[in-house]
Amino acid sequence: IKPNQKSRAIADKQKKHIWSAVSLFYKDPVAIDKGEGLYVWDADGNQYLDFFGGILTTSVGYNHPKIVKRIAEQAAKVMHTSTLYPIKNMADLGEKMAEITPDGLDTSFFTNSGTEANEMAVLAAREYTGNHDFFALRHAYSGSSNLTKTMTAQHTWRFNSNDASGIKYTMNAYCYRCPLKLKPESCGTACAQDFENAVKTMSSGRIAGILCEPIQGVGGFITPPPDFFKIIAEIVRQYGGVFIADEVQGGFGRTGKHWFSISHWGVNPDIMTMAKGIANGMPMGNTITRAEISDCLKSEALLLSTYGGNPLATAASLATIEVLEEEAGPEHVEKMGNLLRKGLEKLYEKYSLIGEVRGKGLMQAVELVKDRQTKEPAVAELMHLFEETKARGLLIGKGGLLGNTVRITPPMTCNEDHIAKALDILDVSFAAVQKAR
Ligand code: PMP
Repeated sequence: IKPNQKSRAIADKQKKHIWSAVSLFYKDPVAIDKGEGLYVWDADGNQYLDFFGGILTTSVGYNHPKIVKRIAEQAAKVMHTSTLYPIKNMADLGEKMAEITPDGLDTSFFTNSGTEANEMAVLAAREYTGNHDFFALRHAYSGSSNLTKTMTAQHTWRFNSNDASGIKYTMNAYCYRCPLKLKPESCGTACAQDFENAVKTMSSGRIAGILCEPIQGVGGFITPPPDFFKIIAEIVRQYGGVFIADEVQGGFGRTGKHWFSISHWGVNPDIMTMAKGIANGMPMGNTITRAEISDCLKSEALLLSTYGGNPLATAASLATIEVLEEEAGPEHVEKMGNLLRKGLEKLYEKYSLIGEVRGKGLMQAVELVKDRQTKEPAVAELMHLFEETKARGLLIGKGGLLGNTVRITPPMTCNEDHIAKALDILDVSFAAVQKAR
């Protein structure tokens, strides 16, 4: 690793002129200057294998030639007009989204971020049901607006002023640290069953819906048991609400086998939101639902997002989905995910610092603990691991309410060699951290 003067100069300028609540990873900052495939280079010329994929935005690797070409062609033709006129790419993408999402979802509203996608989902749920009370899952991360920050159920991402009305919280199945202190073998998924209690005691009993990340991203890839979302979906519908799946992190094949992660739980959502990997890094989001639900909005008012569905972003998304279909579809992700998971489980056998490995497909996490019995979060050790992996040229992510979970999410175009290399670096880095304890 070369000295990082250029990265540091960028970070210093950023510190002066960008809100400091936007936090940086790493003791020595890494300002990424360019990327290609699975690799990025910082401003000082250091090369890294990126196993966080630019926070899951890079579905099919950096600068994929097919996507770059489509963006360049579209930019040269027309970048933006207005949603007052029909937009061919938007219509094509709407059709494609209906094809790849679970049954029944057929109308899209394109936005510029996951935050907006979740805002629109709650709006649609409230308009459709006529109800206001709305549930979020504890440990959720839903966005940066007042409503979505209120729905975000982690104190580290909330401000005192976040106070959107009508938002309540029910338990997620964080089995490794069960909120009810039960054992998964015998609990009867009591945390999901308690949702009914929550509806009856915290709301009017008439609810608009619940928004769930099937695998919570910022929450540290909490992966509920197989019956969890079926129970939640049944209860939400029983009390008049709709089930919304937030696929901002888990969408587009990331979890393997299916295009969207909620399909692992056998639930067909009423509304689904997506962003991040939707267009390989181009800012974009989508709220997709049944026409029966989206038509409710039209009967009351008009809707506009100046940039939502613009020709450039939708070109990037169409090209991204095409590349996924050709090179890195859900079957490929499942295969690569199994390989990664096996490697991480081997590390679990070797290093007591790892308390749990969890996730699906190429969305894998390892939660670090000081002691497997007490499960005390190993936060300093995680920070140390970050420095060790970075020094060896590997970028990874972190998450979890307790700040002790490593998130591993390479671009889905990764191959066996990339995974072997990342696992080797993790192995020696864990050894260094364990030795220093
Ligand atoms: N939902 C989930 C699950 C997310 O992880 C995020 C971003 N981390 C959002 C919504 C908000 O997306 P954005 O930052 O694009 O507004």
